[in-house]
Amino acid sequence: MADREPEREYDIVIVGAGPAGLTAALYAGRNKVRAVLVEAKGAVVDGTLVGAGGQLLNTELIEDYPGVKSIHGPALAEIMTEQAQQFGTEMIAAAVERIHVEPDGTKLVETDQGVLRAPAVIITAGGNPRKLDVPGEAELAGLGVSYCAVCDGAFFSGAHLAVVGGGDAAVEEAVFLTRFASRVTIIHRRQELRAQPILVEEARHNPKIDFILDTVVEAIEGDAKVKQVRLRNVETGEVSRLEVGGVFIFVGFLPNTGLVDTHVDHDKSGYYVTDPLTMETSVPGIFAAGDVRSQLTRQVTTAVGDATTATIAAAKWIEERARHRGGDLPGAAEPGDRVA
Ligand code: NAP
Repeated sequence: MADREPEREYDIVIVGAGPAGLTAALYAGRNKVRAVLVEAKGAVVDGTLVGAGGQLLNTELIEDYPGVKSIHGPALAEIMTEQAQQFGTEMIAAAVERIHVEPDGTKLVETDQGVLRAPAVIITAGGNPRKLDVPGEAELAGLGVSYCAVCDGAFFSGAHLAVVGGGDAAVEEAVFLTRFASRVTIIHRRQELRAQPILVEEARHNPKIDFILDTVVEAIEGDAKVKQVRLRNVETGEVSRLEVGGVFIFVGFLPNTGLVDTHVDHDKSGYYVTDPLTMETSVPGIFAAGDVRSQLTRQVTTAVGDATTATIAAAKWIEERARHRGGDLPGAAEPGDRVA
């Protein structure tokens, strides 16, 4: 990193600008701590971070965020970014490559734009869609295989589509896809759906949606584009084929929890285990909020709640640390001061 910018120093580095990261930026700004929000997918245009929002950007309508009856995901992302920015937290567009913990507990957040140094880090890095890992999935990605209904649904006007999965995302996105598709078949590996009953009810009442249960997708077949899926009933072993114009895969989520270069306690699915009172991980000074955290559910509401707790806890943590060390209290220097 020799030819990169010199290290810059903060109280808190927030990694990722989804709803959790934007909430952390809002609360850090209001608490007057020297904080920076780092987002890999964004760009800073005229001092404003554009492209923040994480999964909000792939969500059509949000109708379960209290205080807002119904709003498009990208519109909510824009409001959250503006609101966070108005309280002064710096926002930069950079990809975090590694978070290194120094022997004295200082965190070095190494990005493709240079190193950010801080005692505390809040990881709000979200994650990526889990893959099915079946033949044809990678080969036909973008040729009928998709992980984002909002991004790609409109390309499938009049098509029969398969949606794979039985969680909230699969059922909600299947309903969304009926706007374009002639028919949507939800393929789920069990008899019971994991999704919330209200979503399942909506799907069951939708005349364009049908279900194939107790069934897994063994392969996605086609040449230049998806033509069919090969299915296997897990109860009977029977193999069949379903002709479809596209396959939307919603089989869960892989959290971005591989950035820290030391051990951080996590559950069996890789989500960080956090202190329920503070959102602190097993590494002192590393907090986690939103979809990277082990929890019952992952909603926008829980992400913003986690991030509120994490930021207030992180601010208190650095204050106590500074007091203990007899150093400057948080906010005493200018944000992003260069380290000598
Ligand atoms: P999820 O809740 O983990 O559901 C994943 C689904 O995929 C499950 O039905 C699972 O089957 C199935 N699955 C996993 N691996 C599979 C494989 N290899 N082959 C076939 N099927 C497989 O994930 P999600 O639906 O993406 O939701 C993630 C989080 O976001 C959840 O906490 C959810 O509540 C939240 N979310 C909320 C909303 C909303 O409230 N409006 C919308 C979207 C997402 P099993 O059931 O058999 O395990």
